[in-house]
Amino acid sequence: MKSLLLSIVLFHSLLSYDYKLQPVKIGESAAYCFFGLPQVMDEHNNGNMSNSCFVTLGNSYLVIDSGPTYQYAAQAYKKMQTIKKLPVSYVIDTHIHDDHWLGNSYYITLRAKIIGSRAFKELPILEKTRMQKRISPEAYKQTTQVFPTLFVDKEKVLDINGKKVYIKSVNHKAHTNSDLYVYIPSQKIIFVGDLVFNQRLPSLRDGDINGWLEALKEIKSMDVTYIVGGHGENIDKKAVDFTYNYLKTLRDEVKKRLGEGEDIADVVNEVRMEKYKNVPFYNSIHRQNVETAYRMLEWESE
Ligand SMILES: [Zn+2]
Repeated sequence: MKSLLLSIVLFHSLLSYDYKLQPVKIGESAAYCFFGLPQVMDEHNNGNMSNSCFVTLGNSYLVIDSGPTYQYAAQAYKKMQTIKKLPVSYVIDTHIHDDHWLGNSYYITLRAKIIGSRAFKELPILEKTRMQKRISPEAYKQTTQVFPTLFVDKEKVLDINGKKVYIKSVNHKAHTNSDLYVYIPSQKIIFVGDLVFNQRLPSLRDGDINGWLEALKEIKSMDVTYIVGGHGENIDKKAVDFTYNYLKTLRDEVKKRLGEGEDIADVVNEVRMEKYKNVPFYNSIHRQNVETAYRMLEWESE
């Protein structure tokens, strides 16, 4: 009986969730991405709702966002090896939201160096992460909270096989207080994390609407062919427009009503922006975004 129990326990501990990751090549560049689903994290997608990308610039891979779990990252690495057998030298965490970096716990077992914002230093080690609370234990298995050990203050430049990688800190609050973007001129590509969402509405919850629009303006002005966001599969130069236009309209609409002295409840009811009503997350996020924008912008109007 004991050995039967033991083998059942063993069998279950061997089970892990298959994310069925498929790398998608980014145009003519040397980059690939695993695109996440336009959903919230739950026990069906097990956190596979954000983008994780990798680039080879010669003799190693650079990973941009390590994904939601140890298992996810291990499976991503296995897929990378089918393209080219190479080690991972660096992992860059674009910001502090845990769907983007919990895979660090796998990459440190490969001795990759983890790069991120200094804001990670302020993050507490949680008893249970948001991810852990929402996904299945099999998928979360072996995941631990591993933070970057190399920090970007303003800009960090990597030289990989003679090719430059610019990691820039946004240096003010935008999507969060920890946003980085990764610009690789030789590939005409920029990875911007959650500064750019497409195919779903962005959330303003941890951000600043003015700072975010400012960061997007800078990204729009860059000479690149590909812009890869943290959510969504559009990767051309226009990928940035969806988030920019949504936030810009939101700001204009709220500001106008603030100028007319309307109170928050009326503004939340009126700023519907119906054009976006069929975009995923509209029902769960839009009203909250209007409220957040109102609270941020009312300081300005005083
Ligand atoms: Zn985020």
